[in-house]
Amino acid sequence: MRRFPEPITNLVAAFSRLPGVGPKTALRYVFYLLKQPKADLEIMARALVNLGERINVCPRCFTYTQRELCEICEDPKRDASVLCVVEEPRDISTIESTGFYHGLYHVLGGVLNPIEGMTPDALRGKELYARLHSDPGIQEIILALSPTVQGEMTILYLHKNLLPLGRQITRLARGLPVGSTLEFADEISLGDALSGRKKMS
Ligand SMILES: [Zn+2]
Repeated sequence: MRRFPEPITNLVAAFSRLPGVGPKTALRYVFYLLKQPKADLEIMARALVNLGERINVCPRCFTYTQRELCEICEDPKRDASVLCVVEEPRDISTIESTGFYHGLYHVLGGVLNPIEGMTPDALRGKELYARLHSDPGIQEIILALSPTVQGEMTILYLHKNLLPLGRQITRLARGLPVGSTLEFADEISLGDALSGRKKMS
C-alpha cells in the first residue's frame, strides 16, 4: 500500500481488524469517511467511545447491557422457568424478534471449536452450570445453537454435562437449514424451530 498520512494508516489498520474486512476495503471506508462532514465523523467517534464506556456484560446472562442487569433478566414478566442457551448476544435479538419466546437466556460466548481455541473452558459452560445449580426454578433448558458441526458438538457436550442436573433439556427442531447459523435464520423458521423443540433424552 502506498504510504498515506498516519491518521489514514491508523484507521485502515483499525478497520482491517473487523471481521470480513481486508486492507483494501478498509482503505475504501477511510476514503469514504474523509469525504464526510467533520460533524458526522465526531458523532461516529463518540458512538465508538460510548460503546467502550457504557456497554457492560450482564453478570447473569452475559449479554450486552447499559444497566447493571440486562432488561430481560430484570423483567419480572419473563418466564423464569425456561432458560434458552445461545451462542452470542446477537442470537437473543434474533429469537426475540420471533415474539415466540418469553423465558430467560444464557449467552455461551461461542461454540466448541478446538482448532480455533474454543475449548469447553473458553465457553461460559461453568457459569451455566453454576446458574442452574443455584436456581432450582429453571425447569427447562433450550439449547438454541446453530445446526453446524460445531453447534452439534456443543449441544452433545452440554447435554451430557447438564443431564445430571435433572432438568428437561430441549433443542431446536430441525427446520433450520443444516450448516447455517441462527444469525441468518428467518423469523418464521426460527419460530417453528422453537415451538417444535425436541426433548433430549
Ligand atoms: Zn441478563
